[in-house]
Amino acid sequence: MDERARALEAAHRAAVEFLAGLDNRPVWPRADLETMVDAFGGALPARGADAEQVVADLAERAGPGLVGIPGGRFFGFVIGGTLPAALAADWLVSAWDQNAGSSTMTTAAVAMERVAGAWICDLLGLPATASVGFVTGAQMSNWVCLSVAQHAVLRRAGWDLTRSGLRGAPTTRVIVGAHRHGSIDRALRFAGVGLDELVVVDADDQGRMLPASLAEALAAASDAPTIVCLQAGEVHTGAFDPLAELVPMAKAHGAWVHVDGAFGLWAGASPALAHLTSGLDGADSWTTDAHKTLNVPYDCGIAVVRDPADSIAMFRAGGDYLVYSSLDPWDVTPELSRRARGVPVWAALRALGRVGVAALVDRLVENARRLEAGLRAVPGVEIVNDVVYTQVMFRLDDDERTRALGAAILADGTAALTGAEWRGRAVLRCSMSSWATTPHDVDLTVAAIARLAAA
Ligand SMILES: *Cc1c(COP(=O)(O)O)cnc(C)c1O
Repeated sequence: MDERARALEAAHRAAVEFLAGLDNRPVWPRADLETMVDAFGGALPARGADAEQVVADLAERAGPGLVGIPGGRFFGFVIGGTLPAALAADWLVSAWDQNAGSSTMTTAAVAMERVAGAWICDLLGLPATASVGFVTGAQMSNWVCLSVAQHAVLRRAGWDLTRSGLRGAPTTRVIVGAHRHGSIDRALRFAGVGLDELVVVDADDQGRMLPASLAEALAAASDAPTIVCLQAGEVHTGAFDPLAELVPMAKAHGAWVHVDGAFGLWAGASPALAHLTSGLDGADSWTTDAHKTLNVPYDCGIAVVRDPADSIAMFRAGGDYLVYSSLDPWDVTPELSRRARGVPVWAALRALGRVGVAALVDRLVENARRLEAGLRAVPGVEIVNDVVYTQVMFRLDDDERTRALGAAILADGTAALTGAEWRGRAVLRCSMSSWATTPHDVDLTVAAIARLAAA
């Protein structure tokens, strides 16, 4: 075998070994960052090494610093696992080394992304004619969508952002919910909009925007160009803004409506859960992730914009956005050169099929409900949110004890989950986001939490 084939074999061996061992290793890393820097660091050796050796060696050194995200008992933040077809397809993306920015050279990669984008619009109930951009995550998708929105609402107000820039432009009103994800604020910062410029609308105890408060904010609005950011899936509670009520209200005021549904948009793929996203098809742009609910490997976010001409106006390099025959990836995303990260999305969707995607989302919610039921039976544990989707939040009677329990869970290693502050109280939160989680994993997790809470 040549060096390349041997290196790939070494990677294959290390990957299979890591994945096979996930069930029997602590979920949270055992080594801290400093230990890991020591493990990989020192001066750069003068002489190189054989590729197979390098790969085998880096896999061995990494072991103690790896977190068991692809396993069945990682519930931290909102982080998906990796479906087998998506993982293997992602390896091919690296082997093929296609630069997927333009459609003229890398036709296979761009075609797969185009088809995957159409499948996603179909599954989630988004317009078939929308533009779909594959970016690194929901953070970048929120920025893509809000930048396109800003460009569009200013254009309609007679201002060309491409030529004239933001200085001197009419003031754009940006209306957001009190429980928006932090990436909305960052996306707006990237787009030149500051925190003090935001109109913040009240939310209820699950984080859902209050329709009466949005109506008030819109009425106070005069005729300024307006963007309204709504949310499908609050990151702690999993709650959905009442889109069927809010979207038409904002549209009636001529606003651009953006929906951040990083993990929540996938409720639309399940007939049993689609009521949660009802009304979302009336919006102008949508953010979601493929590396969360769809379980493709990092990184992959998706930016969907109703009218491709609006995406082109923002992103096409020097082109006329009103005339387009074929959409290139670089017409709808910020990158020129980039990885074909839509290929694992195509593979995941092909491996699941329409029924499989719905079943995946349903299973995540069933596991969340099973966890909720299990935790309700643990003395001293209080469930904090209405479990309508994949998120379960709980706490003990005292904030110190809640935080200590969180640390004890990570140290124990049976499962991993992360803490937060919710309405002034310390909470622990579990996100059911992995295809790999079984009911048995949920039961093991409840048993570990019960044991640690009693101690
Ligand atoms: C996770 C999340 C984001 C950020 O997503 P990344 O993929 O980490 O960039 C944005 N919005 C919501 C609602 C999220 O859950």
